[in-house]
Amino acid sequence: MGRRSSKPDDTRAGLAPRPITRRRVLQMGAMGMVSATFSVLGTACGGRPVRGKNWAWVVPKDVQSLDESKRLFDRMRRHGIEGALVQGDPERMAKLSPVARDAGVELQCWIISLCCRDEEVQKNHPDWFMISRKGDSSLEKPPYVNYYTWLCPTRPEVQEYMARRVADLADIQGLAGVHLDYIRYPDVILPVGIQPKYNLVQDREYPEFDFCYCPVCREQFRKEAGVDPLELKDPSASEAWRKFRWDRVTNLVNNLVKVAHGKGKKLTAAVFPSPSIARRLVRQDWPSWNLDAFHPMMYHKYYNQGIDWIGRVTEEGRAALSDRVPLYSGLAVYMLEPEELARATQIALDAGASGITLFHAGHMSDRYWKQLNRALRS
Ligand SMILES: [Zn+2]
Repeated sequence: MGRRSSKPDDTRAGLAPRPITRRRVLQMGAMGMVSATFSVLGTACGGRPVRGKNWAWVVPKDVQSLDESKRLFDRMRRHGIEGALVQGDPERMAKLSPVARDAGVELQCWIISLCCRDEEVQKNHPDWFMISRKGDSSLEKPPYVNYYTWLCPTRPEVQEYMARRVADLADIQGLAGVHLDYIRYPDVILPVGIQPKYNLVQDREYPEFDFCYCPVCREQFRKEAGVDPLELKDPSASEAWRKFRWDRVTNLVNNLVKVAHGKGKKLTAAVFPSPSIARRLVRQDWPSWNLDAFHPMMYHKYYNQGIDWIGRVTEEGRAALSDRVPLYSGLAVYMLEPEELARATQIALDAGASGITLFHAGHMSDRYWKQLNRALRS
């Protein structure tokens, strides 16, 4: 579940960029004069420098035209957001790249990774999809929602497919990197705040939500551990079987890092909110990933938590990573009032985040931008 996106019930629908007001036009003009350097801009805009480096996820509907994109990127930049994680195909990215550069915004392409709706793959490679402990293919019988069709990271063909996707994007001039989303297993256990929506009480790992028991996974685990995972009395209790699956995603990610770095590009990811939650719910052992940055999705309401929890999971993630790797706290704008977004931002930064990442830019109204700007410059 991505952010967003990362949750089955999550909607990526956002608000359209707001119309340009006369005041905004004046602001944009003023900004254009000082857009040559980030530090000058940061100081000139709010009188105080921006705290951290900050990002926003951007959905395709908010960057449909180059004019719209320019308005959005300029607006982000003026309010302390220097990076955009934008969903779109390689052609769109190539067009957006100079627009982002002119606005002073770093552009990374946000891709949906192992949750695969690529019709060509679904049609020609049904065997690439994960199989549950119950024996159902996620392609034919997806858990929770109909788009939950997942590729198995153990398969060499899937690893090659993902490497090709990253390599094709990394070839785009001006694109700073590739941002992975849904880079994990489907939720063996949903976040506790989402379970009621599906009429579920997931007090343990149930077979229909437990993946992957495809022939390739079973054979590889049997070779390593001497047992077919389907023969384990309680697969959820097996440390070896748990680690085997963590390592499948870790190995895939670390190979993709090599692909991106080989082309001089960054690789980053949207991950579950803390390392312990990520391992338990979706088999993401993200502190073992050699990424250039992490954007954990700290969508507190999915976990029945208040805003202060954002500080606690930020601290846990920060402690698990080496100091040189940035962690940006992902905030769900639609779960927060504007004043709460400001407070959540301050809590995340005070807890050691390198910045925040908004999910998503389309939800930001004038009131949100004003509050965010204040928090980032406090
Ligand atoms: Zn498998």
